[in-house]
Amino acid sequence: MKRLLRSRVAPIVALVSLSAIVFAAQRGGTTRMLDIYWVDVEGGAATLIVSPSGQSLLVDTGWRKDDRDARRIHEVATKVAGLKKIDYLITTHFHADHVGGVGALSKLMPIDHFLDHGDTVENRPGPAADEWAIYLEASKGKRSQPKLGDKIPLKGLDITIAAVNGELIPGPINGGGPNSPELCTDPLLKKPDNSENGRSVGFLLQYGKFQFLDLADLTWNKEIDMVCPVNRLGKVDLLQVNHHGMDLSGAPQFVNSVGARVAIMNNGPRKGGIGSYLDIVKKAPGLEDLWQLHLSLVTERERNAPEEYIANMDEEAACTGHYLKASIAPDGRYSITNTRNNLTKAYASR
Ligand SMILES: [Zn+2]
Repeated sequence: MKRLLRSRVAPIVALVSLSAIVFAAQRGGTTRMLDIYWVDVEGGAATLIVSPSGQSLLVDTGWRKDDRDARRIHEVATKVAGLKKIDYLITTHFHADHVGGVGALSKLMPIDHFLDHGDTVENRPGPAADEWAIYLEASKGKRSQPKLGDKIPLKGLDITIAAVNGELIPGPINGGGPNSPELCTDPLLKKPDNSENGRSVGFLLQYGKFQFLDLADLTWNKEIDMVCPVNRLGKVDLLQVNHHGMDLSGAPQFVNSVGARVAIMNNGPRKGGIGSYLDIVKKAPGLEDLWQLHLSLVTERERNAPEEYIANMDEEAACTGHYLKASIAPDGRYSITNTRNNLTKAYASR
């Protein structure tokens, strides 16, 4: 009887200790997945990239509002991703929805490197000047400005700066090349943009066969320059939709040329998520699914993605801030998870 008991117990113990090791490995950041988190910052941006080696790149820090977004980012970074610090922070540009959380976050956890496009061009008195001052204070002695083509050195990932301070990578990279003259002839242009938006730091991340493109709030005419007459960036698996789905961006030439299989829109309930932009993304050739951080309440329900692909359904005041997560395996297979309903859907790189 004693022997029988022991032989039954042994495999159970082995199983428990194996799962403990796997769990510990994931918490310690030695898992071999690349993880990307879109923290819900109510129509701002806060995209956290954790490399298979456990290094981190945070792209923007949301709004300053009562430190809400800094706390949301800190929670995901520490409790979900198991990070103790942020290795690199890109502040894509100095608008309130991208730089707002930096002061509070830098007090909650160490940030080693601060990357930006150069000094703000919108330093008018009021909140913008306050946020600029807070950024300068938080980043003191740790600021640098990447140049086009520079790499952000996260081990195992190839992250190329594709846009900075209004300039675009000459390219083509990632298999890009001449684009269809039909697509590029006489595009509709908008007013030239010399604002902070057009100066956004943008990058292409490659991990084996997988690509992720984040050009922050790059605006319409520059989007067209990026793909016409030459598609400088090639095709990507995963696209963070430019500018939260606001119609200062979203040129169909761009959306159609990058050919994303999956698009993530970091809109708020009433910021971004414009109906015409949603339509353009959903119709883009090759797109399988659009995921949204919020149900857009500024457009018709049916122009949004299906409800199960939307992380937050409520107005900002009632919102608890569910995040979206992508996990990418070394072989290029990846999945997106909606943490509101725990829906996970699998995709494969081309
Ligand atoms: Zn923005």
